[in-house]
Amino acid sequence: MRPAVFLDRDGTINEDVGYLDSLERLTLFPYSIDAVRLLNGAGFCVVVVTNQGGVAAGLVDETFVHDVHEVLRRRFEAGGATIERFYHCPHDPHAPIEQYRRDCMCRKPKPGMIRQAAVDLGLDPTRSYVVGDKWSDVALARSVGATGILVQTGYGTTQAKRLDRPRDAIVTADLMAATVRILELGTSE
Ligand SMILES: [Mg+2]
Ligand SMILES: [Zn+2]
Repeated sequence: MRPAVFLDRDGTINEDVGYLDSLERLTLFPYSIDAVRLLNGAGFCVVVVTNQGGVAAGLVDETFVHDVHEVLRRRFEAGGATIERFYHCPHDPHAPIEQYRRDCMCRKPKPGMIRQAAVDLGLDPTRSYVVGDKWSDVALARSVGATGILVQTGYGTTQAKRLDRPRDAIVTADLMAATVRILELGTSE
Protein backbone atom coordinates (compact mmCIF):
# COMPACT_ATOMS: atom_id res chain seq x y z
CA MET A 1 0.00 0.00 0.00
CA ARG A 2 1.30 3.38 -1.03
CA PRO A 3 1.72 6.53 1.04
CA ALA A 4 -0.25 9.57 -0.07
CA VAL A 5 -0.47 13.29 0.40
CA PHE A 6 -4.09 14.39 0.64
CA LEU A 7 -4.38 18.02 -0.37
CA ASP A 8 -7.16 20.42 0.40
CA ARG A 9 -8.07 22.51 -2.65
CA ASP A 10 -9.23 26.09 -1.96
CA GLY A 11 -6.67 28.06 0.03
CA THR A 12 -4.09 25.29 -0.30
CA ILE A 13 -3.36 24.72 -4.01
CA ASN A 14 -5.38 27.64 -5.36
CA GLU A 15 -6.51 30.96 -3.99
CA ASP A 16 -9.62 30.83 -1.86
CA VAL A 17 -12.07 33.21 -3.53
CA GLY A 18 -15.05 32.37 -1.34
CA TYR A 19 -17.22 30.17 -3.51
CA LEU A 20 -15.34 29.46 -6.71
CA ASP A 21 -18.05 29.75 -9.36
CA SER A 22 -16.19 30.45 -12.60
CA LEU A 23 -13.02 29.09 -14.16
CA GLU A 24 -11.71 32.65 -14.63
CA ARG A 25 -11.50 32.96 -10.86
CA LEU A 26 -9.39 29.81 -10.52
CA THR A 27 -5.86 30.92 -9.64
CA LEU A 28 -3.21 28.40 -8.69
CA PHE A 29 -0.54 29.40 -6.22
CA PRO A 30 2.74 29.74 -8.16
CA TYR A 31 4.41 26.82 -6.36
CA SER A 32 1.57 24.28 -6.41
CA ILE A 33 2.58 22.35 -9.53
CA ASP A 34 6.23 22.18 -8.41
CA ALA A 35 5.15 20.95 -4.96
CA VAL A 36 3.04 18.14 -6.38
CA ARG A 37 5.81 17.12 -8.80
CA LEU A 38 8.27 16.91 -5.89
CA LEU A 39 5.82 14.81 -3.87
CA ASN A 40 5.29 12.49 -6.85
CA GLY A 41 9.04 12.16 -7.23
CA ALA A 42 9.34 11.10 -3.59
CA GLY A 43 6.83 8.31 -4.19
CA PHE A 44 3.68 9.93 -2.86
CA CYS A 45 0.32 9.49 -4.50
CA VAL A 46 -1.29 12.96 -4.48
CA VAL A 47 -5.05 13.18 -4.03
CA VAL A 48 -7.30 16.22 -3.56
CA VAL A 49 -10.02 16.06 -0.91
CA THR A 50 -12.32 19.08 -0.82
CA ASN A 51 -15.56 20.11 0.86
CA GLN A 52 -17.71 21.90 -1.69
CA GLY A 53 -20.39 23.46 0.44
CA GLY A 54 -21.28 25.73 -2.48
CA VAL A 55 -23.00 22.74 -4.08
CA ALA A 56 -25.20 22.14 -1.04
CA ALA A 57 -25.90 25.88 -0.90
CA GLY A 58 -27.01 25.91 -4.53
CA LEU A 59 -24.24 28.31 -5.60
CA VAL A 60 -22.47 25.92 -7.95
CA ASP A 61 -23.51 22.62 -9.46
CA GLU A 62 -21.56 19.41 -9.31
CA THR A 63 -20.85 19.49 -13.04
CA PHE A 64 -18.88 22.67 -12.47
CA VAL A 65 -16.93 21.03 -9.64
CA HIS A 66 -15.97 18.23 -12.02
CA ASP A 67 -15.01 20.79 -14.68
CA VAL A 68 -12.71 22.61 -12.25
CA HIS A 69 -11.06 19.34 -11.28
CA GLU A 70 -10.50 18.37 -14.90
CA VAL A 71 -8.90 21.76 -15.59
CA LEU A 72 -6.69 21.37 -12.53
CA ARG A 73 -5.73 17.80 -13.44
CA ARG A 74 -4.64 18.92 -16.92
CA ARG A 75 -2.78 21.98 -15.68
CA PHE A 76 -0.79 19.89 -13.20
CA GLU A 77 -0.16 17.17 -15.78
CA ALA A 78 1.16 19.79 -18.22
CA GLY A 79 3.69 20.72 -15.54
CA GLY A 80 4.76 17.11 -15.02
CA ALA A 81 2.75 16.72 -11.80
CA THR A 82 0.09 14.10 -11.21
CA ILE A 83 -2.98 14.52 -9.05
CA GLU A 84 -4.27 10.99 -9.13
CA ARG A 85 -7.87 11.57 -8.07
CA PHE A 86 -10.16 14.34 -6.85
CA TYR A 87 -12.76 13.70 -4.16
CA HIS A 88 -15.33 16.27 -3.14
CA CYS A 89 -18.11 16.36 -0.57
CA PRO A 90 -21.18 18.23 -1.87
CA HIS A 91 -23.21 17.71 1.31
CA ASP A 92 -24.28 19.86 4.21
CA PRO A 93 -26.64 18.79 7.01
CA HIS A 94 -28.41 22.17 6.67
CA ALA A 95 -28.38 22.41 2.87
CA PRO A 96 -31.27 24.31 1.28
CA ILE A 97 -31.16 21.77 -1.58
CA GLU A 98 -32.72 18.55 -0.36
CA GLN A 99 -30.61 16.31 -2.57
CA TYR A 100 -27.47 17.41 -0.69
CA ARG A 101 -28.96 17.70 2.82
CA ARG A 102 -27.20 14.87 4.51
CA ASP A 103 -25.15 14.21 7.61
CA CYS A 104 -22.65 12.35 5.47
CA MET A 105 -19.38 10.61 6.29
CA CYS A 106 -17.37 12.47 3.64
CA ARG A 107 -17.56 16.08 4.86
CA LYS A 108 -14.19 16.95 6.38
CA PRO A 109 -13.14 16.45 9.16
CA LYS A 110 -15.02 13.18 8.73
CA PRO A 111 -12.83 10.54 7.11
CA GLY A 112 -15.06 9.29 4.27
CA MET A 113 -13.09 10.73 1.35
CA ILE A 114 -9.76 9.40 2.62
CA ARG A 115 -11.25 6.00 3.42
CA GLN A 116 -12.68 5.83 -0.11
CA ALA A 117 -9.38 6.91 -1.68
CA ALA A 118 -7.51 4.31 0.37
CA VAL A 119 -9.76 1.59 -1.07
CA ASP A 120 -9.82 2.97 -4.63
CA LEU A 121 -6.09 3.60 -4.93
CA GLY A 122 -4.51 1.20 -2.44
CA LEU A 123 -3.24 3.83 -0.02
CA ASP A 124 -2.03 3.57 3.56
CA PRO A 125 -3.35 6.59 5.48
CA THR A 126 -1.08 5.93 8.46
CA ARG A 127 1.97 6.63 6.25
CA SER A 128 0.29 9.62 4.66
CA TYR A 129 -0.15 13.35 5.13
CA VAL A 130 -3.06 15.77 4.96
CA VAL A 131 -2.23 19.37 4.03
CA GLY A 132 -4.85 22.10 4.34
CA ASP A 133 -5.59 25.64 5.42
CA LYS A 134 -8.09 24.78 8.17
CA TRP A 135 -7.80 22.95 11.46
CA SER A 136 -10.49 20.62 10.18
CA ASP A 137 -7.89 19.33 7.69
CA VAL A 138 -5.53 18.60 10.58
CA ALA A 139 -8.38 16.94 12.51
CA LEU A 140 -9.08 14.82 9.43
CA ALA A 141 -5.44 13.67 9.45
CA ARG A 142 -5.72 12.63 13.08
CA SER A 143 -8.91 10.69 12.52
CA VAL A 144 -7.22 8.43 9.94
CA GLY A 145 -3.80 8.17 11.61
CA ALA A 146 -2.10 10.47 9.10
CA THR A 147 0.11 13.49 9.79
CA GLY A 148 -1.63 16.85 9.39
CA ILE A 149 0.01 20.07 8.25
CA LEU A 150 -1.67 23.48 8.36
CA VAL A 151 -0.58 25.95 5.69
CA GLN A 152 -0.80 29.68 6.33
CA THR A 153 -2.44 30.55 3.04
CA GLY A 154 -6.18 30.97 2.46
CA TYR A 155 -7.95 30.65 5.81
CA GLY A 156 -4.68 29.44 7.32
CA THR A 157 -3.48 32.96 8.01
CA THR A 158 -6.18 33.42 10.65
CA GLN A 159 -6.49 29.73 11.65
CA ALA A 160 -2.85 29.66 12.79
CA LYS A 161 -3.57 32.48 15.27
CA ARG A 162 -6.50 30.79 16.97
CA LEU A 163 -6.05 30.39 20.69
CA ASP A 164 -7.62 26.94 20.66
CA ARG A 165 -5.20 25.63 18.04
CA PRO A 166 -3.58 22.28 18.72
CA ARG A 167 -0.20 23.09 20.22
CA ASP A 168 1.69 20.17 18.73
CA ALA A 169 0.53 20.71 15.16
CA ILE A 170 2.87 21.25 12.24
CA VAL A 171 2.29 24.70 10.74
CA THR A 172 4.10 25.87 7.61
CA ALA A 173 4.01 28.97 5.44
CA ASP A 174 2.48 27.34 2.38
CA LEU A 175 2.23 24.15 0.34
CA MET A 176 5.84 24.34 -0.82
CA ALA A 177 7.09 24.65 2.76
CA ALA A 178 4.80 21.76 3.72
CA THR A 179 6.28 19.72 0.89
CA VAL A 180 9.83 20.38 2.08
CA ARG A 181 8.78 19.23 5.54
CA ILE A 182 7.14 16.08 4.16
CA LEU A 183 10.27 15.22 2.17
CA GLU A 184 12.31 15.58 5.37
CA LEU A 185 9.95 13.47 7.44
CA GLY A 186 9.38 10.82 4.77
CA THR A 187 6.97 7.97 5.33
CA SER A 188 6.85 6.45 8.76
CA GLU A 189 6.68 2.68 8.50
MG1 LIG B 1 -9.33 25.14 2.19
ZN1 LIG C 1 -20.40 14.40 2.05
